[in-house]
Amino acid sequence: MPKTNFRKNSDSPVIDEIQTGIARTGQLFAFNYYGIEPDIITLGKGPGGGVPLAALVATHAVSCFEPGDQGGTFNGNPVMCAAGCAVFEAVTSTQFLATVEQCSAQLVDALEGLAKKYGLGGVRGRGLLLALDSGPLSAVEIAAAAFEGGLLVNAPRTDTLRFMPPLNVSAQEIGEMVARLERAVEQVIREREGE
Ligand SMILES: *Cc1c(COP(=O)(O)O)cnc(C)c1O
Repeated sequence: MPKTNFRKNSDSPVIDEIQTGIARTGQLFAFNYYGIEPDIITLGKGPGGGVPLAALVATHAVSCFEPGDQGGTFNGNPVMCAAGCAVFEAVTSTQFLATVEQCSAQLVDALEGLAKKYGLGGVRGRGLLLALDSGPLSAVEIAAAAFEGGLLVNAPRTDTLRFMPPLNVSAQEIGEMVARLERAVEQVIREREGE
């Protein structure tokens, strides 16, 4: 395995797919949308489907590692690796990406409906990695009201709600999630009017 040729050219990127990989955006990797062939990708969170498993994946041309180079107490843990194999089998099965896209379309539709009804901003993102601009309302207040109503959603910015449901989420669960989100939005609006 060649160990040189590390900086082949600037068209050979390193891509962090930790949040976006393993079907999260509706393709197996987000780089699939852009016609990029990365030399190195980082993977984490998704590969284990909930158990701790991460990977650095490189082409032969740029890899400076030999198998076994990286040691660690839990590296190559058979239980985690078995979980990883099961995850890969699931996400590469024929219907999986189509199902993610279906759920995505349902969630986008529902969020756009809420945005229209309550004067919120736009929906952006891909697959099941979506954001809703909270417009004139505080995303932090909506997230807090949602929490009280049994829905975990985070506000990475004061005007942004982020949606990252499990990739095996059901249509019914998305419906329930949107219903709870709507109640949270209504509560924030009521509280503003009561001020
Ligand atoms: C979580 C995360 C990391 C860190 O991953 P670890 O496996 O905890 O080291 C790096 N990049 C992005 C985009 C992440 O979301």
